[in-house]
Amino acid sequence: MSPDFDVFVIGGGPAGLAAAIASAQRGLRVAVADAWGPGIDKCCGEGLMPDSVDALGALGVALPEGAGYPFPGIRFLGNGVSVDARFPNGCGFGVRRTMLHDLLSVEAERRGVELLWKTRVVGLSGARVECEGRSFRARWIVGADGGQSTVRKWAGLDACRRDERRYGFRRHYGIAPWSEFMELYWGENDRHEECQIYVTPVGPQEVCVALLSRNPQLRLDQALPWFPQLAERLSGAPATSAERGAVTASRQLRRVSTEHIALIGDASGSVDAITGEGLCLTFLQAKSMADCLGADREANSLPRYEDDHRRLRRRPAFMADLLLMMGRRNWLRRRTLTVLAAQQNLFSGMLAMHIGALTPASFAAHFVALGWGLLTQA
Ligand SMILES: Cc1cc2nc3c(=O)[nH]c(=O)nc-3n(C[C@H](O)[C@H](O)[C@H](O)COP(=O)(O)OP(=O)(O)OC[C@H]3O[C@@H](n4cnc5c(N)ncnc54)[C@H](O)[C@@H]3O)c2cc1C
Repeated sequence: MSPDFDVFVIGGGPAGLAAAIASAQRGLRVAVADAWGPGIDKCCGEGLMPDSVDALGALGVALPEGAGYPFPGIRFLGNGVSVDARFPNGCGFGVRRTMLHDLLSVEAERRGVELLWKTRVVGLSGARVECEGRSFRARWIVGADGGQSTVRKWAGLDACRRDERRYGFRRHYGIAPWSEFMELYWGENDRHEECQIYVTPVGPQEVCVALLSRNPQLRLDQALPWFPQLAERLSGAPATSAERGAVTASRQLRRVSTEHIALIGDASGSVDAITGEGLCLTFLQAKSMADCLGADREANSLPRYEDDHRRLRRRPAFMADLLLMMGRRNWLRRRTLTVLAAQQNLFSGMLAMHIGALTPASFAAHFVALGWGLLTQA
């Protein structure tokens, strides 16, 4: 019996929609089911780095005028130091999550993807996807159902090489961005528990403020007093959204595919949100997955996706580890920020490295220079 679809994607967040668009671009018949309706909101820092914007563009999604708010680089603030660097080319954009979801949904629809909103998937039986009330046959099934993925469990892909969790809470404030940069504030509470807050400009009168910590109970209002400079900026600014939380995981699975099921996005593992690279990773995975599925409709080409998935994760995972190490150790953070402030080109190099704009050799040179700076800094 011929399948209803070549590809059935479970989960219509950024990963699911990106996978659907990329597959449809390669001529595959695709459906996406999501338990929610379009315009889905989610706890996110809402920063798209320049490489994320490029990867989004490769999916045929350009940011229309006014859809996002540009930022030319990143500023770190902590231990009494403020240091910033510009991206080597292009700029990042703060984009409201609902806007990003709308743009991806419109492109998926334009590509002929069957969008099954408010459709919860309740199980898999062989090549059949069981939704509430109906079922579909598909040649390939894609699990894009987020960090708590049930597809991962159904497919027996739950085994992890690594699984460390932190917690994020975000809220929007109605205030004009005071800085042209996306800002990352480093801090810790009175018990020396690390936490960070990052601020992304998302509009001419709105910023997205996201807190990251290892404490699931910690909320923005409790944490802000540990960031007096930021608290003062935000004092009197009205909240324009409710606070939303989510787990942010440093998670690497042993495998991300079986013979006919592949995982993508947070369902397939993730890097800590401090990198701001989660969406970029997802868009790049979508391209790789679709290349594999589109290359050979009969033979199983998913092993190539396994390799690509591992390779794509390497750089953001390395940068996440570096940033998390800096977050955990106050002395290291102080030294690093001081070195970066003294040698601005080092921070520019690190930022270029972060967004994949450096060759591995220059990458190594900057890393060595940073190490030397840390050793020799008084
Ligand atoms: C605090 C925080 C800040 C972040 N900041 C940034 C940032 O600034 N920049 C960046 O690039 N990344 C950031 N990220 C990462 C980014 O948000 C994630 O990588 C991204 O949301 C992953 O998208 P996804 O589609 O894989 O998962 P999700 O967005 O979680 O989507 C999963 C979808 O699956 C659906 N679903 C689940 N189960 C079923 C089912 N059984 N049937 C049907 N549908 C189902 C859900 O309804 C949902 O819509 C941040 C993450 C956090 C937690």
